Amino acid sequence: MQELLERKKGLRRTILIVDDDYIAREILGKMLKSQYEVCYAQNGEIALNIIRRDRLKLSLVILDLHMPEMDGYSLLKLLRSDNELRRIPVIVLTSEKGAEVESLKIGAADFIAKPFDMPEVICARVGHSIELAEDSIIIHETERDELTGLFHKEFFFQYGKRLDELNSNMPMDAIVVDINRFHVVNELYGRCYGNSVLKTIGDSIHEIVSREGGLACRRDNDHFCIYLPHSDELALKLPQYIEMINKRINDSNISLRFGVYSDDGSSSCMEHRFDCARLACHKLRGSYVSCFEFYNDEQHSKELYAERLISDMDKALSERQFRVYYQPKYSIRGDKPQLSSAEALTRWFHPEFGMVSPGQLISLFEDNGLIQKLDRFVWNEAAAQIKQWKEKYGIEIPVSVNVSRVDMFNSRLVEILNDITEQNGLKNEKLLLEITESAYTDNSTQIIETVGKLRANGFKIEMDDFGSGYSSLNMLTSLPIDALKLDMKFISGICENQKTERLVGIMIEIARLLEVPVITEGVETKEQMELLKKLGCDIIQGYYFSKPLPPEEFGALIEKELEEKNHAYN
Ligand code: C2E
Ligand code: MG
Ligand code: MG
Repeated sequence: MQELLERKKGLRRTILIVDDDYIAREILGKMLKSQYEVCYAQNGEIALNIIRRDRLKLSLVILDLHMPEMDGYSLLKLLRSDNELRRIPVIVLTSEKGAEVESLKIGAADFIAKPFDMPEVICARVGHSIELAEDSIIIHETERDELTGLFHKEFFFQYGKRLDELNSNMPMDAIVVDINRFHVVNELYGRCYGNSVLKTIGDSIHEIVSREGGLACRRDNDHFCIYLPHSDELALKLPQYIEMINKRINDSNISLRFGVYSDDGSSSCMEHRFDCARLACHKLRGSYVSCFEFYNDEQHSKELYAERLISDMDKALSERQFRVYYQPKYSIRGDKPQLSSAEALTRWFHPEFGMVSPGQLISLFEDNGLIQKLDRFVWNEAAAQIKQWKEKYGIEIPVSVNVSRVDMFNSRLVEILNDITEQNGLKNEKLLLEITESAYTDNSTQIIETVGKLRANGFKIEMDDFGSGYSSLNMLTSLPIDALKLDMKFISGICENQKTERLVGIMIEIARLLEVPVITEGVETKEQMELLKKLGCDIIQGYYFSKPLPPEEFGALIEKELEEKNHAYN
């Protein structure tokens, strides 16, 4: 494109004259030499080699139709069918009338009749053909995304609307394609790899659109739109599309989601159809496999809510609408439970929606990377809180923070955490890090490596929600962790169900084998607490002791504990 713009600014263009007749070549060459660089070939085969070699340089081919070896018709057909070479315009040299029509039909830009007369007419026709071809390339390139060759968003919607106007009776389906956690792919494997994935998807979509009719664009980054004539079979075709694209990408870490708005005969506009398809697509957030979802009306309000949370996030952070609550953890090893640490848990006080709990936020924010901002805010708050309590009460209460699976892919994670503890004058072991078990099974090598680095820097790692992921027993023995936190779903039925009790017993045994303490969360009753103590659990977190508390209330809890002078920290 750059080269083309420069050529348009006045650089000399190159023309290839292909004719077996030496005299004809010379006459034409003489006419054009003052304005163009001219090269020659005496038959189609030689010409094809030159064209392939100089394809970026050539502005025009002037082609005789009758030649030995490969004739002009064959070469012209070949050039028109080649993706890379078809941009070079061809003017044919003819001496009979019928040939002119025939060659225009197979894609010649113009023709020049033999024998040659009026050099100025010939020069004008040459100049005109080059200009037309160059303008059409520039239009093509501005309309299209450089990486994938699909339309840019603006042109896509412009042409789509025109299509709708011209064929008002033709129902159209809208499909939105998104890559799950694409920012992680980029961070983990680099932009270059990310781009090659986007290109593969773009090529596949191009193929689908060429086959089915319709249009497609790359809307932004990892987000594609496809506008296809309506098909009742779309639900059957989508798995085939997905299979084709997955095969080409050939990387099990990458999965796609397709949101579909299927034309229902209502006269909604193109933009609205794509809004609906996007909502359907968002419903699949957090999924690990490629899949699709059709839009339906109920989804609408839920998804609009999620969209609002995403768009309000930055403002909420700057206005400190997020608050960090602290839930105490108690050691139950001795006769009397003792406050041992706390877990920091986020709460969003949204001016319109009231308190939004992390359950509604985390997977939403993990999907678009916003979780990194939120987590960093929470880590800073938690570290500052430890420092503040230390100054006020003279004790350093360790606080655990949740570290999302997405944070684990940040190559600066260790540095960021080190800075936070340093700024607050804390030892790294006081800021405990909770990493959910399923993160380990997602990408075990990467996580284990990062966890290794964190531990080497003195951070302590607690494996959160243990039992909810799919760690193999074998993998567990090699995991670098400092504590196991049992998933709370085992606890609710522990007193009523003997099998659950046995299972929790086994998990505690596993922790013994790994030589790490066991923390149980979600403990709500005295019976549960006593049973867990009997089974050998070390630390308990749950409503039985306390709900997550705002910092001031947690402070009161510390004071009470200090009065009893029974603290197990320091
Ligand atoms: P988690 O880390 O496993 O946190 C424990 C969750 O259990 C908390 O829910 C807590 O309020 C709740 N809980 C504690 N005791 C009991 C109990 O006795 N009974 C019941 N039913 N629930 C109890 P919460 O605060 O809603 O957080 C949910 C999840 O969201 C957390 O699970 C954690 O994975 C995630 N999360 C919370 N804050 C953050 C954060 O700042 N960053 C990240 N990445 N994740 C967070
Ligand atoms: Mg946790
Ligand atoms: Mg947990």
